[in-house]
Amino acid sequence: MAPVVIQAPPQPDASQMAMTEQTGLFTPGPKQETLEQIREDLGDCRRCKLWHDRKNIVFGSGNPKAHLVFVGEGPGADEDEQGLPFVGRAGQLLTDMIEKGLKIPRSEVYICNIVKCRPPANRKPERDEVAACRQFVERQVESIRPRVICALGATAAETILGSRESMGRLRGRWYEFHGFPVMVTYHPAFLLRDPSRKAETWADLKLILARLNSSPVAADSA
Ligand code: URA
Repeated sequence: MAPVVIQAPPQPDASQMAMTEQTGLFTPGPKQETLEQIREDLGDCRRCKLWHDRKNIVFGSGNPKAHLVFVGEGPGADEDEQGLPFVGRAGQLLTDMIEKGLKIPRSEVYICNIVKCRPPANRKPERDEVAACRQFVERQVESIRPRVICALGATAAETILGSRESMGRLRGRWYEFHGFPVMVTYHPAFLLRDPSRKAETWADLKLILARLNSSPVAADSA
């Protein structure tokens, strides 16, 4: 069956709604959280078992007004050590994809993960861990309001799109997450193991670039 374009419905969080008795035309919309506020709410997180072994929470890094957000799976050893996303070997490849491929300085994009703490021995994050952490990536995206989200690999794709289709079927097409366009592509760690997939990844990056160059700049994100 051909993959379908999936639209994940926005999930309003009561705590994010501005408090008002009034309803109707002049009711303020959802309050925009800053990344600092979201990080503060994350705190010294113990919402799932990953806190036991972590050294540092890896919240995310980059431009809070980025037009492009990359979402990976979860921190590895280097990221856990430094508290920053994608700073190991896979991170170097991601940096090359951004800077040499897209020709955008890495500091201009925003990079984060589905889970903010390193799973032991770099295993895939478990269902309960993703469930405990997914609100944070949702809130990060809502705060940044990017023009494009790039989901790197199966964990990001599954969490963001709610689909368990193979990467081969999901990649190269547009989806939506909370109203923001999503492109799925291969995770850089996978590309290190199977460089033959780099050509497809480059094709996905070119679709992202075309979309970034074509979509109008919103007044508050210029
Ligand atoms: N892999 C990920 O998914 N995220 C990182 O931050 C590093 C490696």
